[in-house]
Amino acid sequence: MIPSPLPGAPQLAYRDDALHLEDVALADLARSHGTPLYVYSKAAMLGALAAYQRGFAGREVQICYAMKANSTLGVLQLFARAGCGFDIVSGGELRRVLAAGGEAAKVIFSGVGKTQAEMREALAAGIGCFNVESEAEIDVLDAVAREMGAVAPISIRVNPNVDPKTHPYISTGLKGNKFGVAHERAVAVYQHAAALPGLRVLGIDCHIGSQITEETPYLDAMDRVLDLVAAIEAQGIRLHHIDFGGGLGIDYQGDTPPAADALWTRLLARLDARGYGQRKLLIEPGRSLVGNAGVCLTEVLYNKPGESKNFCIVDAAMNDLPRPAMYQAYHAIVPLRLPAAGAATTTVDVVGPVCESGDWLGRDRVLSVRPGDHLAVLSAGAYCMSMASNYNSRGRGAEVLVDGAVAHLIRQRETSEDQMRGERLPD
Ligand SMILES: *Cc1c(COP(=O)(O)O)cnc(C)c1O
Repeated sequence: MIPSPLPGAPQLAYRDDALHLEDVALADLARSHGTPLYVYSKAAMLGALAAYQRGFAGREVQICYAMKANSTLGVLQLFARAGCGFDIVSGGELRRVLAAGGEAAKVIFSGVGKTQAEMREALAAGIGCFNVESEAEIDVLDAVAREMGAVAPISIRVNPNVDPKTHPYISTGLKGNKFGVAHERAVAVYQHAAALPGLRVLGIDCHIGSQITEETPYLDAMDRVLDLVAAIEAQGIRLHHIDFGGGLGIDYQGDTPPAADALWTRLLARLDARGYGQRKLLIEPGRSLVGNAGVCLTEVLYNKPGESKNFCIVDAAMNDLPRPAMYQAYHAIVPLRLPAAGAATTTVDVVGPVCESGDWLGRDRVLSVRPGDHLAVLSAGAYCMSMASNYNSRGRGAEVLVDGAVAHLIRQRETSEDQMRGERLPD
């Protein structure tokens, strides 16, 4: 009934039948802060970062945390203090980085739809690099930079056309995707960009998808990108850095992605073999730094037996944990207190209170729970709170960062006043 070991959650364990994250009993947090409650482990986040750092030992690398995975200020501060840069996709994310104490010079700006206002804001802040995603964007960024008397540092995102073998909604490096410049166009686009006075070509980048659990797509993408580096440099355009994006998967349900250090040992060997081992590297990991560092706690409201299905209705919903509704994603769901040996179990769909049939968190789970019991939805550190919404006028949950035996509240539960701020009655 309880997945054993708990999928991918290094700091999560039962002690005396009570689920702990680091040295904090999660039931205590649920009682003191209410539910739904996101709880993150600082040690798990820094441990995930350390795996990358080990893989890159002795190399010139800038790890840019892809903050859309979890953009809470307390989480950003932790990565900023650990020396990370940030991969951002909006002006709002830039403001969060600066508010959390991150350095603008270590920020790279990705995304297919940057507005001119966002470009101006990022140039004024002095970000490290724009990852440009289309030919049209190149000309707009050049014009915006020249108007400001600035020069925009750029890298061009190329689409290596490799299959990351992941969910189609989170695959980004195939021909049919909206991201990046086609491999065949890349050299011509670099020649065009290099001739523009408002731009300075710094590097090249790719990002092929998310929740990638195999090594081969990365090796294939690296080969394709290095082929382009050679072709672009043959035109006299020097590339100072190569950015291999993010996308490394985590264990949600017995998934076995390569460990970050093992993956990068292999990728760096390939880079060395092709003569690019001394080049500055950037990477943009998101999910793999935070996903398994977090859980979402929820209270059981009702058991609702049915003819064809039994439902366990909890107080967290698709607005708090959108991944199951969006991608049919699997999250392990476990009790905060282990049931007594031999307790009766039922197979249930764990669902939220939102008025949508798509509002489910887990299907066909074997649980032994009564109203008032608490459950933890695992692997909830990435793409959960950052994707949460107010649908059904539900306030977004509170967030706690655990550090050893200490629990810091890093976001208050959202109130109705928070939600209605900014709204006006017409008369
Ligand atoms: C989302 C994203 C990432 C991070 O992806 P993960 O799968 O969370 O590691 C990195 N780079 C870009 C451009 C992205 O859009």
